[in-house]
Amino acid sequence: MEKAREVLKDVFGFQSFRLSQEKAISRLIVDNENALVVFPTGGGKSLVYQVPGLCLDVSLQITFHVCSFIYSPIYQGLTLVISPLIALMKDQVDSLVSRGVNAASLDSTQPPERSKWIKAEVLAGKMKILYVAPERLNNEGFVNMMTQVKISLLAVDEAHSRFAVELDVERVLCLTATATPSVSADICSSFLIAKEGVFSTPVFRPNLSLRIEVAETLDEKIDRVVPLLKTRTGPSIIYVTLQKQTEEVANYLMPHGIDAMVYHAGLPSDRREKIQTAFMESKDGVVVCTIAFGMGIDKADIRQVIHLYMPKSLENYSQEVGRAGRDGVTSTCVMFLSSLDIPTLEGFCRGDTCSKQDLELWLQEVATKVPAPDGTLDFNHYKQGKDYDIRANVLGLCYAHLELDHGYIRAITPFYSFYEITPLNSS
Ligand code: ADP
Ligand code: MG
Repeated sequence: MEKAREVLKDVFGFQSFRLSQEKAISRLIVDNENALVVFPTGGGKSLVYQVPGLCLDVSLQITFHVCSFIYSPIYQGLTLVISPLIALMKDQVDSLVSRGVNAASLDSTQPPERSKWIKAEVLAGKMKILYVAPERLNNEGFVNMMTQVKISLLAVDEAHSRFAVELDVERVLCLTATATPSVSADICSSFLIAKEGVFSTPVFRPNLSLRIEVAETLDEKIDRVVPLLKTRTGPSIIYVTLQKQTEEVANYLMPHGIDAMVYHAGLPSDRREKIQTAFMESKDGVVVCTIAFGMGIDKADIRQVIHLYMPKSLENYSQEVGRAGRDGVTSTCVMFLSSLDIPTLEGFCRGDTCSKQDLELWLQEVATKVPAPDGTLDFNHYKQGKDYDIRANVLGLCYAHLELDHGYIRAITPFYSFYEITPLNSS
């Protein structure tokens, strides 16, 4: 690990490791085991493979140098990074090259001479870190080349994306920003990662206040939302499930003197762009939108994120509330629960609605599976079918509140009244 700290300082110019970077790196280069890293965006995932990429290389070089009179030529290990976005790969490569690291990305946009040079460097054992898109693993020529080099580390960025890895690699590192316990279990079983190899940093945002409220009808919800909007201290986002709900809600708000913009994927692109710009530039704008809004939104001072309807998954929820308060200033996130919204949500997620019978069966099951006060809950149980998945996500939603809000009773109570279940551990 001394080598890793040296590389961190000398190559990257950083004084110390962040979060669980050090533990994860040690797992890879000291224990020689696979690992999964779950850090939020900006948490510093890249360093977890870049540092080993350089350390593993050096140690190999030394080993082979000592016995180079027996084994020649000197053979170096490669760190192969699978990354889904060409633009991100390029940024990473540029930054590595500027630090004197021999790194490159192989992609279809490159001139043939460049690809040829990269391949030669790889085959000569000179390339240290090589980035490719997942599709490249279907390319026979590429796979052939990879069987001729020693891959010390395979790093899979955004490990959600699925592909078969048929390469012989010494260790695997998977990286992702969001993973529920079941997604994380999935990745671990696909890439043979032991429990001890999972390093996650809870996305703890102390400046976000997360709240759930039960309100059955839209009228009821509007009654509660209007005061929140009237006293707002900055831009606010209101998420709804369906496109037509954006207009409906904006019309409900109008008589209260709240002039909300609407945004959804069904609007023409010039209109969408206009609204996005207006919101980005506003000091206290209100936008009623579907999940289509937010992709490119990196506005630091969003003070409220309101889910008028339940988001469709835990990942969606954490991503959407995560847009609030990026500047660190106290911000509020309120989500409304209503049993009336369940059919729409399920229809939206599954393409059809579940029968009353299904729901009852599921409720019985949930009744025996309530989370313990320590927050433990076996999500895998709900992984068997797609139907279960969505409902588990609804359940997971409340679980997130348990974790993030630390308000066990406050968070869990609306959930049970919502499903009319009596918590088992209340007696
Ligand atoms: P992620 O992939 O998790 O979204 P990145 O790997 O792109 O995050 O890192 C985000 C930023 O944090 C980068 O600018 C990176 O240089 C910086 N960073 C990462 N680790 C450290 C560290 N230990 N000390 C200081 N800055 C760091
Ligand atoms: Mg990244």
